[in-house]
Amino acid sequence: MSTTEYEAVPAVAGEATSRAGTVVMKFGGTSVGDPQKLKDVAARIVAAHGEGTRVVAVLSAMGDTTDELVRLAYEISPRPEPRELDMLISVGERISCALAAMAIHDLGDEAISLTGSQAGIVTDTVHGKAKIVDVRARRIHEALDQNKVVLVAGFQGVSTDLDITTLGRGGSDTTAVALAAALAASHCEIYTDVAGVFSADPRMVPNARKLHAVSYDEMLELSASGAKVLQLRSVEVARNYGVKLHVRSTFSDGDGTWVTEEDERMLEKAIISGVAHTFDEAVYRVQSVDRADLFAALADAGVNVDTIIQTGDEIVFSAPLGDGGDAESALDRASADCDRIDGLAKVSLIGAGMKSHPGIAARTFATLRDIGVEARFIVTSPIKISFFVERADAERTVLALHEAFELASAGSEREH
Ligand code: ADP
Ligand code: ASP
Ligand code: MG
Repeated sequence: MSTTEYEAVPAVAGEATSRAGTVVMKFGGTSVGDPQKLKDVAARIVAAHGEGTRVVAVLSAMGDTTDELVRLAYEISPRPEPRELDMLISVGERISCALAAMAIHDLGDEAISLTGSQAGIVTDTVHGKAKIVDVRARRIHEALDQNKVVLVAGFQGVSTDLDITTLGRGGSDTTAVALAAALAASHCEIYTDVAGVFSADPRMVPNARKLHAVSYDEMLELSASGAKVLQLRSVEVARNYGVKLHVRSTFSDGDGTWVTEEDERMLEKAIISGVAHTFDEAVYRVQSVDRADLFAALADAGVNVDTIIQTGDEIVFSAPLGDGGDAESALDRASADCDRIDGLAKVSLIGAGMKSHPGIAARTFATLRDIGVEARFIVTSPIKISFFVERADAERTVLALHEAFELASAGSEREH
């Protein structure tokens, strides 16, 4: 059984007064990667504003800025103080917003840049992966009422203890979706370096196909399984508030992928939507420990446990590599007898049509047998089959499944 858990949503309903024509546009790191790209983004924002839309733009840090800031922190300290690390890495998004506001002014529109805190993004107190608990959008509404473009620094907020927090890698997506919910925006545009959500990571599978529409549930599974085009939390918030997402390219005008409620046509057209993979999970094998104590200790340490399998006395679970230190101290505290299995990758096949079509598991495992790959720790949900393989086998496994389910072919395209 898959144990992916989806969290409670931030409290934004109180602010959600419907105002016509608000759109939230989010631009990722590559999209604002250099000064020229930032100016191009500014022009795109001004064009949307020129059509009479109230525009809130959420920007990520330029290029690799966040990675560089993290690297800098670890050059100073082997275990950076979490509060100070958030203070540091929240800076990249502010740089992007201030620069974009300058560029928008030069194009003749009024703009104001806001930090997450100034924008009213209130989070819990968990540094490095804080959750938004409230959006107090008064200041954004005021600026929009003055016909200003509002630029909000993504990936950050202010905690209920008044400290700066960050929302986890990829967190600008969540800032954008939470704002779209709070502002009752018509939809949320996620501009990125690929043309939409594909049937597999287009960097790994060159003939991956852009999907026209994906249901929230499929996108939750895709994001939870490693398709980092949308941060998992952003999809949870979108689903819970019914925010329609349009994932599209910053570098072209083409239609991207719509992430919305499932409709019947989605089920009829495509059995499988995509194959996802991740190299970012560690697998732990634990013996002779009380299950409740084990998972309580992991939860207290803030570890996001994903897959859980129990065989006899043994419990196997996976968790993000980034939570490794916390997981190991929690396991120590629970006095668990534990092995960590490194060098694995998780591969997942996802599709809403799986619910009503038998034979998907048979074809999956026949494909693995044909290429001589052994699947370990298999878990399923109604719309997903996931398993771990040796890291070195991940790419050919993804390619073979993509081929076996004919995901590149026009027949698997779905219109809505
Ligand atoms: P941004 O900086 O715009 O937030 P990200 O790097 O976070 O962009 O996400 C976009 C990347 O997600 C793409 O460049 C692509 O390599 C990766 N990706 C992984 N799986 C998928 C998928 N199924 N569809 C689209 N992109 C995917
Ligand atoms: N800049 C942050 C990151 O690199 C947040 C984001 O881009 O969404 O993870
Ligand atoms: Mg991202």
